Amino acid sequence: MKNSKISLLLTAILFFTVILASCGTHIHEFGEWTTVKEPTCTEEGLLESRCYCGEAETENIPKKEHVFDDGVITTEPTCTESGVMQYTCTLCGETKTEILPNKEHVFDDGVITIEPTCTEKGTKQYTCTLCGEIKTENLPKKEHVFDDGIITTEPTCIKSGNKKLTCLLCGATMDQNIKPLGHDFDANNVCETCGKTFLKTKNSQIVEITIPKLPKTISDYKYNGTVDSSCKVTAISCEFLASYSEDSIKIFFTGEKTYDSDGAGQSSSCRIGWKLYDDEDYVVDSGTFYSESIKTGEKFKNGYSYASDCIEPGGSYRLEILDVN
Ligand SMILES: [Zn+2]
Ligand SMILES: [Zn+2]
Ligand SMILES: [Zn+2]
Ligand SMILES: [Zn+2]
Ligand SMILES: [Zn+2]
Repeated sequence: MKNSKISLLLTAILFFTVILASCGTHIHEFGEWTTVKEPTCTEEGLLESRCYCGEAETENIPKKEHVFDDGVITTEPTCTESGVMQYTCTLCGETKTEILPNKEHVFDDGVITIEPTCTEKGTKQYTCTLCGEIKTENLPKKEHVFDDGIITTEPTCIKSGNKKLTCLLCGATMDQNIKPLGHDFDANNVCETCGKTFLKTKNSQIVEITIPKLPKTISDYKYNGTVDSSCKVTAISCEFLASYSEDSIKIFFTGEKTYDSDGAGQSSSCRIGWKLYDDEDYVVDSGTFYSESIKTGEKFKNGYSYASDCIEPGGSYRLEILDVN
């Protein structure tokens, strides 16, 4: 009896030992992953792997992406407000929206609300044909409409003149330059407008010589102050010396004896004093011209005097003729 009890106890101990040993040392052997639940676009899916003992391992499968349709415009955009586009998931019905940008205004051709003048800008107003929005644009001033003007400064041969023009619309005035007239030469290189004589050097530089207004009567006085003889100078011209020196000129005199105190039949030279001034009024040379010996009423032509070593190319000179005593 006692033996059988001990034997039963030992058997029980052995049984539990085997059970315990078999469970404690077992290493799970998980098999292939199998999909237990397919993922959708709203819920995760599930993977499972099981051991023969019934123990299982699981893993989540991430949600699928929504599959949105092409969308419908639920609010049309206008030129003042943005619109809305709504997309729906074809699988789960989930929706999302997107803002549609404002449309551009569609402006009309505009109307001029303020006409521009030559003093003020104008205004043009455009209206949006969709929403009535208004925008304005400046119109540039108009051009003045000037008259023919009046001359305020007459031009000369070498200096420009001035004209004042007046706008016929607003009265605004504008100065306008008038070109110099240019010289008007006669056969002797004397300008008929300003009376100046021009000589060209061999280097084509210009020397300007102002000849006195002619005809002019010159008298030769005696020591006692009475007139000995008179002559009328009718023409004067100048040229460079025959050698073409650039600093000396020949001055030619033409005229007629008009009086001789010794009597009309008496022959003697007419004498003409002359002075040459530069443009700063310095006397650069002077002299006395003696004509041929002539009677009253007789003429002399192109008799000459020299102005020596006093002419600078480009210079401007003035010749004066004077009485002598
Ligand atoms: Zn197991
Ligand atoms: Zn969905
Ligand atoms: Zn608009
Ligand atoms: Zn004007
Ligand atoms: Zn001139």
